[in-house]
Amino acid sequence: MRLDVVTIFPEYLEPLNVSLVGKARTRGQLDVRVHDLREWTHDRHHTVDDTPYGGGPGMVMKPEPWGEALDAVIGSATEQDEAGPALIVPTPSGRPFTQALAVELSQRPWLIFAPARYEGIDRRVMDEYGERLDVYEVSIGDYVLAGGEAAVLVITEAVARLLPGVLGNADSHRDDSFAPGAMASLLEGPVYTKPPEWRGRAIPDVLVSGHHGKIARWRRDEAFRRTASHRPDLIERCDPSSLDKGDRAI
Ligand code: SAM
Repeated sequence: MRLDVVTIFPEYLEPLNVSLVGKARTRGQLDVRVHDLREWTHDRHHTVDDTPYGGGPGMVMKPEPWGEALDAVIGSATEQDEAGPALIVPTPSGRPFTQALAVELSQRPWLIFAPARYEGIDRRVMDEYGERLDVYEVSIGDYVLAGGEAAVLVITEAVARLLPGVLGNADSHRDDSFAPGAMASLLEGPVYTKPPEWRGRAIPDVLVSGHHGKIARWRRDEAFRRTASHRPDLIERCDPSSLDKGDRAI
């Protein structure tokens, strides 16, 4: 998968060199290219923002540098990139970033990120590229960050771990919270490792019973209990047929 990020803070994307994403880059599973938006400005001060039409506080990112930058990145497509990119614009006013959207994005061969600063990017940029590409305006949560770079890191990590071969154990995301499947609407329950007792706290006996059916039942019950406690909205919204008799008894 190819990822391009256009930003006024290229150094903010340094974490893309470490851990899971960094290793995926080293192995050639991810081709990440970070670009400085100011390279596509033409004045002495490398200006990327201006005052908002209609008045109001704050500044708005100008359309010209974004247009030139995105044209250059899109124009750098090689034969390998023939499926074309999708443009991801992080914004608190976007659609919520969910695991389902991470799965959808992980199936695209090329993502271009346009993280903004100030009050965001002039609307005409999204309208212009929306006529040529799939544009995803995405919010990572109901809060406001100072800029979209942290959102790019979040989205990239969630997408990268779904790419084939990126996680050491391909089954690792099967039981994750929000993963598609039997536990789709449930959060993951508690997990334990060795030693069997720590500071007088023992692990649940069932986990060393060797009884796969009972372990599965316990995991399901714990997932249900945790979801009911932390995210009752997920249970209210789920398809009732995805719940089983045991869930209702909890
Ligand atoms: N005035 C804007 C609003 O209320 O929608 C907020 C702009 S915010 C200060 C600057 C930039 O940070 C946004 O354009 C976006 O790129 C990024 N950002 C802030 N919060 C975000 C969130 N929850 N999800 C994704 N991106 C976010």
